[in-house]
Amino acid sequence: MIRVTVWNEYYHEKYDKTVAEIYPNGIHNAIADFLGCEDIEVRTATLDEPDCGLSQKVLDNTDVLIWWGHMRHDFVPDDIVERVKAEVLKGMGLICLHSAHHSKIFRSLMGTTCNLSWREDGDLERIWTVNPAHPIAKGVGRYFELPQVETYAEPFGIPNPDDVVFMGWYEGGEVFRSGVTFHRENGKMFYFQPGHETFPIFYNPTVQTIIRNAVRWATPTYRASELSCPNVERVHNK
Ligand code: ZN
Repeated sequence: MIRVTVWNEYYHEKYDKTVAEIYPNGIHNAIADFLGCEDIEVRTATLDEPDCGLSQKVLDNTDVLIWWGHMRHDFVPDDIVERVKAEVLKGMGLICLHSAHHSKIFRSLMGTTCNLSWREDGDLERIWTVNPAHPIAKGVGRYFELPQVETYAEPFGIPNPDDVVFMGWYEGGEVFRSGVTFHRENGKMFYFQPGHETFPIFYNPTVQTIIRNAVRWATPTYRASELSCPNVERVHNK
């Protein structure tokens, strides 16, 4: 079984009526509901829980961490960000959704601003599969459309990704690298742009397929027990 933890700051859903109507049990539970299947078991964690729900024990039992945050990035303590980062470097998978582009964990692992241009006017987005051979694109097809999204536009202040899997085009004219992958030491990362809280994006079957594919792709094939820099004996004697 792949053990997934879905983390959500869980703020909009409690204080914004529009968002609460779309995600009455929180975005984290909406994601958990469609992800759980024969080979994936899911738990959730939120900002208000002790340790933000991300104790060392939880992370030790997480193969892939999914992150949704927007308004409360700065409320995640730095020591928890460092704890998550260490697990990614050891090999844990990390999937950052939508406004998690500005989360502490994503920015720390990217090492760049992760800034982008944005506009919230409910434009249609056509998301093109530009790397159909990538495992995250399996079953997605040539393109799919989301009738209303928040526009995220280039330039996107990230390092050059390993792979651009999806490219978004908006009816307002912009484009965006909507699905990109990275490796950071032993860990695999996927950033996926759709997921604005006032649109029912996580109920879209293609979005669900992509996140499920990304979980399977990001599952560690190797995970180091510690991050160390050992002084070692020679393999062969002189
Ligand atoms: Zn948004």
